[in-house]
Amino acid sequence: MTETASSARRILVVGAGVAAHRFVACLLRDPGAPVRVTMIGEEGRGPYDRSALTSLLSGADPAELELDRAVLRDDRVRLIRDERVLHIDRAHRTVRTRSRRTYAYDTLVLATGSYAARVAVEGSELPGCFVFRSIEDAEAVRDFVASRSRERGRPLRGAVIGGGLHGLRAALALSGMGVSTTVVQYPDRLLSAHLDPVAASTVRAAVEAQGVTVRTHTRTTRLDPDESGAVTALEFQDGTFERADVVVFTVGVRPRDELARNAGLAVDPRGGVVIDDRCGTSDPHILAIGEVARLDEREVSFVGAAQVMGEVAAARVLGGDERLLRVAESVHATLGGVAFASFGDPLLRVGAVEVVTHRDTAAGVCRKLVFSDDARTLLGGILVGDTGDHEALRAAVGSLVSADVAAQLLPAGDGATDDLGICDHIGTSHARLVADLRSAEVSRFSTARPLVGRDGCDDCTLAIARALLDLVRSRAGWSGVAEPLAAVCPTAPLRTDGTWTVRPWTREMMLSPADLVALGQIAEEFRLQPRIVEAGIELHGARPAQLAPLIERLAAAGLAPGDGERAAGETRPATELRPDTRPEAPGRSDSAQGRRASAPVASRGAVSVANGWGYRLVGAEP
Ligand SMILES: Cc1cc2nc3c(=O)[nH]c(=O)nc-3n(C[C@H](O)[C@H](O)[C@H](O)COP(=O)(O)OP(=O)(O)OC[C@H]3O[C@@H](n4cnc5c(N)ncnc54)[C@H](O)[C@@H]3O)c2cc1C
Repeated sequence: MTETASSARRILVVGAGVAAHRFVACLLRDPGAPVRVTMIGEEGRGPYDRSALTSLLSGADPAELELDRAVLRDDRVRLIRDERVLHIDRAHRTVRTRSRRTYAYDTLVLATGSYAARVAVEGSELPGCFVFRSIEDAEAVRDFVASRSRERGRPLRGAVIGGGLHGLRAALALSGMGVSTTVVQYPDRLLSAHLDPVAASTVRAAVEAQGVTVRTHTRTTRLDPDESGAVTALEFQDGTFERADVVVFTVGVRPRDELARNAGLAVDPRGGVVIDDRCGTSDPHILAIGEVARLDEREVSFVGAAQVMGEVAAARVLGGDERLLRVAESVHATLGGVAFASFGDPLLRVGAVEVVTHRDTAAGVCRKLVFSDDARTLLGGILVGDTGDHEALRAAVGSLVSADVAAQLLPAGDGATDDLGICDHIGTSHARLVADLRSAEVSRFSTARPLVGRDGCDDCTLAIARALLDLVRSRAGWSGVAEPLAAVCPTAPLRTDGTWTVRPWTREMMLSPADLVALGQIAEEFRLQPRIVEAGIELHGARPAQLAPLIERLAAAGLAPGDGERAAGETRPATELRPDTRPEAPGRSDSAQGRRASAPVASRGAVSVANGWGYRLVGAEP
């Protein structure tokens, strides 16, 4: 069947997951939008939230995972279930499906998600081995466990291969079903992409306290069958083995890019359809969103990122100009009762410094921040036990630290203002240390460290960090703050689009009509996006090269005061400046604005939030 043409634009969406659902919801938000959408999904059901799959092992009903069905009740959309697209004919702008139907499109949107990977070892396809990607996968695990334990007449033993977030949640769910479960992880610690050894060991203890066994640094080499052919044991590289009646693989995903590959679209060598920052592929009539898409060689593996892409693609189809923008990645979850979060670049890299700002081992609380060598830029951090500051800290990643943020990052603790020694190894007061570093013209950890404190001592590092931040604060002024981000923190531009937000200074929060006119003129001249944020006006989108002339223009208009105009003792920079890392969608109060990139569709079970994408609205029609 070939569809008849009509005046409405034909939008064909391949895949009916989270990204596709958000795309269609945004596309149809305007009741007058002249589009006709066909969404083809190979699963026998409508879109649902995969991030809540483990709840099915605890007895949840699949209907609880469904995404908002109202979207699909719009007359302009048709969902075709249980159908798979097999081929794209780009020349004729059609696709062909498994049931030999042909659908024509004006715009094709690939939202095919990923395959769940298994480790490539003998026996990984044995009965009793599962991946965990769909409702059917979760139901298969649940049914297998029920029937196998009846058959065996004893509780089962299980293994989850992969100790990341999904693996640990699957392991806890299996354990909750009475399966004696072992997590097998090749790296030296759990959640190795997100947590350092200390934080990982806290999470490990919490998971073990729930009855789950953890084996790290363990490579599975083979899975053995029993006499019935089903899996019965795992063999490891070190020669040991572990009995297991059920095995779940959570070792990562592979983008489902075969349609694109066969159609000759540009595909990343490591998998994923290459897209630009508006979700466009190498064919102007084809967009790609969600886990199948790849921007800047970075993979997408979280709900928030998939949704943001759906929003940006919908805006593009409707003639807007929203763009994807890198924001600090983060993970925020609770496992075994322990809350933890990691954001930005939380693991120590060359040139970065870890500062443990708080540790209470007895209470299981730890807060570690990673700074650039000059203490001027927060690169990332890890919170365990108390994650209350997570969003605020995450928002500060990549920016030059302002006085406000500095106070939040390293609140003055005992000894910070004492005349007594702040640490046994330093033996001097905070004020003295600041004065010493200033007179020695030391402004970096790498140069301060040989002069004071003991390498490896957390208290010394914290004391130096506080002193360096104080120096930064006392020097904060336009000449220092306006230094381009790339010069200060080479890793940060990877997480931003490289533009900055400038918040003009206003005397006692007052703006005269002339100030407003001047602001408008400056925004127009520099092609910036003004936005009202928390009782102030910000100018968004300044490129690094614009910063110096922009500040000059603001100062000339009285919107960036000279030093003399600052209150005595005030260390706060007069005009705030920060990299433009936040997604913006002016004038929208719904999900796009409210949830931005961060929240998963649902927060069932252990909440986890992670994403690396936001978006910025550039010149779209209201
Ligand atoms: C167990 C698990 C736990 C997770 N937990 C979290 C979490 O806590 N937080 C979080 O943010 N993220 C989590 N995720 C990740 C998140 O679910 C995914 O990032 C998100 O679902 C990606 O959305 P998508 O639309 O790109 O792909 P999907 O949701 O996978 O949708 C793609 C759809 O396209 C269909 N399809 C593929 N090819 C074709 C074709 N040729 N024809 C027709 N249909 C096709 C697929 O069958 C599928 O239904 C989790 C994922 C899993 C598996």
